[in-house]
Amino acid sequence: MVGKGKIIAVSAPSGAGKSTILKSVLNAIPEIVFSISATTRPKRETETDGKEYFFITEENFKEKIRNNEFIEWEKFYDYYYGTLKRFIDDNIESGRTVLLEIDVLGALEVKRLYPEAALIYILPPSIEELEARLLNRKTENKIDLQKRLERAKFELGFKDKFDYLVENIELEKAENDTISLVNKIIYKETVNGN
Ligand code: 5GP
Repeated sequence: MVGKGKIIAVSAPSGAGKSTILKSVLNAIPEIVFSISATTRPKRETETDGKEYFFITEENFKEKIRNNEFIEWEKFYDYYYGTLKRFIDDNIESGRTVLLEIDVLGALEVKRLYPEAALIYILPPSIEELEARLLNRKTENKIDLQKRLERAKFELGFKDKFDYLVENIELEKAENDTISLVNKIIYKETVNGN
């Protein structure tokens, strides 16, 4: 019989390099399934509906809240983000490891509901460096940028609640560190038979 798949949730303030790092993890370990959340945030030019997110309307999102379709959901920067319960459960029941890219509060909620989940936090070198990276990215307007920085400071306060921390000072090293860590999490838990 196939064992249950693992849940790995990765959090980081936006601009910490999380998306890039996660892309390398998914490339290096192709059997991992990326959890596609639903969001009401406008799609960025680089994104595809059904790949990074399911981009849905606020009305549709609220309907899903009422129907208990989310494991957890959050509203920040005026937009809703939620993890779809069915997506996670179907995959882990089929023995697949699911990787969630999710904010800190969402990650802690996932851990409450699925205590076996592993939580990873990616640390930016500093708030100044984070600001420089966000400015460089140019995907947000000034107000959004300010909100994201405030949020980053808030999120950093929760880092000790995570199971693993990865420092992103040099991107390639952070990518390799995260890949080894994820491999270790999957391997270790498989050996224990949990
Ligand atoms: P972005 O707009 O940059 O894609 O994401 C903003 C924040 O939302 C990030 O911290 C991201 O990890 C988080 N996020 C994405 N999907 C979910 C989700 O399903 N639930 C929660 N709680 N946060 C999410």
